[in-house]
Amino acid sequence: MVVQKGAGGNILRIYQPYKHRILTSDEFIEDIRLRVKNFVDMHKLIKGNETILLGLSGGKDSFVLLDVLSMIHPVSKLIAVSIIEGIPGYNKHEDIMRMKRMAKDYGVDVIITSFREYVGHSLYEIVKMAWKRRLKVSACTFCGILRRRILNMYARMHGASFVATGHNLDDTAQTMLINILRGDIDGLIRMHPRSKPPSSKMVPRIKPLRMVYEWETSLYAYIMRFPFQETECMYITSTPTLRAKVRRVMQRIETEEPGTLLRMVKTLDDILTPLLEKQFSVEELPLCPRCGEPMNVGRPVCKLCELFEKIGVSKPIYQMFYNTA
Ligand SMILES: [Zn+2]
Repeated sequence: MVVQKGAGGNILRIYQPYKHRILTSDEFIEDIRLRVKNFVDMHKLIKGNETILLGLSGGKDSFVLLDVLSMIHPVSKLIAVSIIEGIPGYNKHEDIMRMKRMAKDYGVDVIITSFREYVGHSLYEIVKMAWKRRLKVSACTFCGILRRRILNMYARMHGASFVATGHNLDDTAQTMLINILRGDIDGLIRMHPRSKPPSSKMVPRIKPLRMVYEWETSLYAYIMRFPFQETECMYITSTPTLRAKVRRVMQRIETEEPGTLLRMVKTLDDILTPLLEKQFSVEELPLCPRCGEPMNVGRPVCKLCELFEKIGVSKPIYQMFYNTA
C-alpha cells in the first residue's frame, strides 16, 4: 500500500498492490463497502430483516464493521455489545463511551458489559490467579472463550440471528494457518462463511470484513476519522503465541507476493465447501451440567467451568445465573 498525501494531510491516492491500481479516498471507501456487500450476498449470509448483534471492541475494525453494516442492513435491526475485559490501560471506559456515542449517531444501541459482570473478576485478576496456580493458560485463551460466550448470550437474549465480528482478512488467514499447523480440521471447517454452529444454543457467527486486509480497515478508519482505540492489549506482547509467529511470516509473504492472503482464504473456502455437508450430520453438543452452555462431547464440564475450577474460582457468577434459572 502506498498513500500519497496532499496539503493539510488529505489522502489523494491509495495504491492497492494486489490489484495493481490506484484509487482516490472516495473510490477506496466505496470499494470496501461493495466488496463486503458482494461477499455477504455471495454466501447469502444475511437474508434481509434479521437482527444482527455486533461485537464491538472499540478498535478500528469495530468502527469499520459498524459503518459498513449500517450501509447494507437496516440499522433498526442492528444491536451492539461491547465488553470491558478489565486489562490495565486497555479498553478503557472513555474509549467505549466514545464508540457508544458514535454508534448512537448511526442509530445503533451499544450494550456495555464486562468480564466482571459475567464472571465476578476482571481479565487481569483471572490471569493473576492462573499464574499463582502455575496454570499454563494464556490470557488470550480466557479472553477468547469469555468474549464468545458473552456475545452469544446477548445474541440469544435479543433474538439475534447472527453475531457479527470485525475479524479482517489477516486475522482469518492467520487462524486458518494455525488450524492447519495444529491439524485441526474441524476448526478449519468452522471457519467457512457458511458453517453452522454445532448447537442450537450457539448463534451463527458472521465475519463481514473477512476478505478485507488489515491495512485496508486501518486506512478506512483513518480516512473516516473514526475515534478508535489505538493502544495494543498488553497481553499480546507478553505471550509469544503461535499467532505472532504466523503473523510475521504471512506479512512478509504478502509484501513480496501481494494478494497471497486473499488467494489462500479463497482456496481454503473452496476446498472446505464440500465438507460442510459433514457438519449437518453431527449431533447437537451436550450441555455443561454447571452452566448450561454447550460443551464438547466426552467432557464432565465445559472448558470455561474447568478453567475456573483450576484457578480456584468455585462459583463464577454465570454458574449461579444458570442454577437459579
Ligand atoms: Zn460450564
